[in-house]
Amino acid sequence: MYLCQMLKEEVLQEVEKGCMLPLMEEFYTIQGEGFHKGTAAYFIRIGGCDVGCHWCDVKESWNADLHPPTVIASIVDNAVKYSDTIVVTGGEPLMWNMFPLTKSLKERGLQTHIETSGAYELTGVWDWICLSPKKNKLPTSAVQAVAHELKAIVYNKHDLIFAEEQAALVNEDCILYLQPEWSVRDKVVPLIVDYVMKNPKWKVSLQTHKYLNIP
Ligand code: SF4
Repeated sequence: MYLCQMLKEEVLQEVEKGCMLPLMEEFYTIQGEGFHKGTAAYFIRIGGCDVGCHWCDVKESWNADLHPPTVIASIVDNAVKYSDTIVVTGGEPLMWNMFPLTKSLKERGLQTHIETSGAYELTGVWDWICLSPKKNKLPTSAVQAVAHELKAIVYNKHDLIFAEEQAALVNEDCILYLQPEWSVRDKVVPLIVDYVMKNPKWKVSLQTHKYLNIP
């Protein structure tokens, strides 16, 4: 019993340091969204998220305890077999210390991309940061300052106002995308198309992987 408790605490310490991460799934596919859409990439999905978007399509990621703490060396060894481009997603990956994982990926010559709500402290070494801000838990200014793309999800008309508020807070080189929330796409695509034509600093992003029926 005592030994079990010791092992559990050691694992928790490793997770705390970012040397182990609650891995939900990892898979090789095509990045469907945003600037890098169409690019083959290896996805690493980390469990744990407390942002609570009601339309979230990966709710099973929320409880980190359901996903086994996994040593980063094994995650990196798998990733390197598949692709030069690695997308770390979640869940909310910035709930964890991303420095050890990204340092190991960089040491193997891989490109590190992250998909984040930006709601937590920025950790890790990133070649590409996709910030997808959420009203429930706003992004930190540290993430806004360095994000390469802002991907605002549009579920209803009010989300366009939120998107503009967030666009005013990101750096001037950040590429701006409006993306329909999948379950209401038929309703919001016309809104987005009209908005982008009137406000061409924005671009349309679609979840093309869902049209392609791939993960
Ligand atoms: S931030 Fe992402 S993972 Fe978390 S609830 Fe929202 S959509 Fe889901």
